[in-house]
Amino acid sequence: MAPVAKQYDFIVIGGGSGGSGAARRASGWYGAKTLLVESKRSGGTCVNVGCVPKKITWNFASVSEMLKDGVHYGYDIPQDIKFNFAEFKKKRDANIEGLNEAYERNWSREKIDLVRGIATFKRQKEIEVTFEDGDSAVYTAPHILIATGGYPITPQDIPGAELGITSDGFFDIEDLPKKMAFVGAGYIAVELAGVMNAIGVETHMFIRGNTFLRNFDPMVQKTLTQRYEDAGVIIHKNHKGFNAVVGLRGGKGEGRSLKLVESNGEELEVNELLWAIGRAPEIERLNLAKIGVKLAGKGHIEVDDYQNTNVEGVYALGDVTGQAELTPVAIAAGRALSNRVFGAQHASGGPHLPQKIDYSNIPTVVFAHPEVGTIGLTEPAAIDKYGKDHIKTYHTRFTPMFYSFHPAEEKKLQPTEYKLICQGSEEQIVGMHILGAGSSEMMQGFGVAVKMGARKRDFDACVAIHPTSAEELVTMR
Ligand code: FAD
Ligand code: NDP
Repeated sequence: MAPVAKQYDFIVIGGGSGGSGAARRASGWYGAKTLLVESKRSGGTCVNVGCVPKKITWNFASVSEMLKDGVHYGYDIPQDIKFNFAEFKKKRDANIEGLNEAYERNWSREKIDLVRGIATFKRQKEIEVTFEDGDSAVYTAPHILIATGGYPITPQDIPGAELGITSDGFFDIEDLPKKMAFVGAGYIAVELAGVMNAIGVETHMFIRGNTFLRNFDPMVQKTLTQRYEDAGVIIHKNHKGFNAVVGLRGGKGEGRSLKLVESNGEELEVNELLWAIGRAPEIERLNLAKIGVKLAGKGHIEVDDYQNTNVEGVYALGDVTGQAELTPVAIAAGRALSNRVFGAQHASGGPHLPQKIDYSNIPTVVFAHPEVGTIGLTEPAAIDKYGKDHIKTYHTRFTPMFYSFHPAEEKKLQPTEYKLICQGSEEQIVGMHILGAGSSEMMQGFGVAVKMGARKRDFDACVAIHPTSAEELVTMR
């Protein structure tokens, strides 16, 4: 006899940023009987192999940079400062385990049932979960959310490519490689290569173009690529790819050795190789064909403005939809969905809370060295949209006061550069791009202003805070 399906109001597949956000809002706020299915560790990509361990590692690298800066202020800091990366990793892992537990505590407090297994659709309103021991169970609900995220892709056509790691494997590194190659030119390549370079690893970046971050404003692309080169990153530009990756020696850290055979015949030996060439949606195990969920071009799940798929009662959000792949976006989309589906009858929530999210003007930061913050349109995109005659840009580049005592050749390593892109006679700010120390913290507040439709004169009307770098943003001419 077929097992009896257990019934819920809401089933959420994926306990990452978006899934957790949706489940907690539905159950914790609105009392919907909610099941959360997670196949791996609680918290998803952000907590386990994304934002959190990445930012902690960026902090680790920032300490190293600060120790070097201290010398110029008269601190007697040895130049060959030792650190214990394995010890740092242990602390980082423990921190993340703490977060895994915190997620589970929150779910349990908010009466969300958690099952650990792989979810597959059986019917429109029914899923089967396969547990690690091979057992399975069936669950039904009128509302099912797919928040299964994505995974890092690796090349399929390069022999030996599997010898390289991805961002997932980056967080397993215990023994630092002496020499490491990064392939890719997006957020992940720039962030992880920047960290390794800052802590003394010989860092090679292989990029297809002349600059990295090619979706960002040209100012960011140019200055940051130059900054990385000045800081010692060896950038192999206009790279045409690899013929093969050959394993020379196994082991860890410096013990491991790989030979990269480039398509132009050149060879490079490194201790580690990381592919950062993009991510793909995690849909394979869901059996979406069974219920006819429509996919978009690159395999992401197609949704409307309200995160509805084409199948009634089945929703999708977060990285699996490919919409602004950022943690706060997934969380906000999850909460909005639950407001809409479960909040309507609740005085505490419901109609006056967001029912969908606005994907325009999302501020974002690349935790590079230095940080880059951005919101809105790049200059070429603004010109495309409004026409060159309707766009005015303001731009400044300077060395922050913090570097006053650094010798000239080091000062040039610390560019700070800001650009405002304004539209129309009202000079509404439609793009803001900032690069330099502190940009990540600065961006949030300026993001609010841009989202509210700030004009250049609104920025100017705000009295500057002196002495800061941020004051340049309200005094631009
Ligand atoms: P995820 O968080 O990936 O969660 C999906 C979950 O679904 C996973 O836990 C997975 O195990 C589970 N799952 C998948 N299939 C199934 C199944 N069939 N059954 C059961 N469970 C399943 N964003 C930022 O905003 N700031 C940053 O600084 C930042 N840094 C990043 C750094 C790196 C290295 C990476 C890789 C990403 C980073 N991101 C950052 C992006 C951010 O992590 C993602 O946008 C976010 O985690 C997406 O959330 P999600 O809920 O869509 O998916
Ligand atoms: P991205 O899409 O940002 O970048 C992938 C890059 O890989 C592209 O820029 C492309 O560069 C390059 N590329 C693609 N194919 C190849 C190839 N065959 N060979 C060489 N290079 C190639 O993806 P990421 O994986 O870096 O990050 C995924 C997403 O995760 C981001 O878009 C972001 O939304 C999120 N994220 C956010 C972070 C944050 O908020 N700080 C940090 C990390 C990730 P080009 O076209 O120029 O060659």
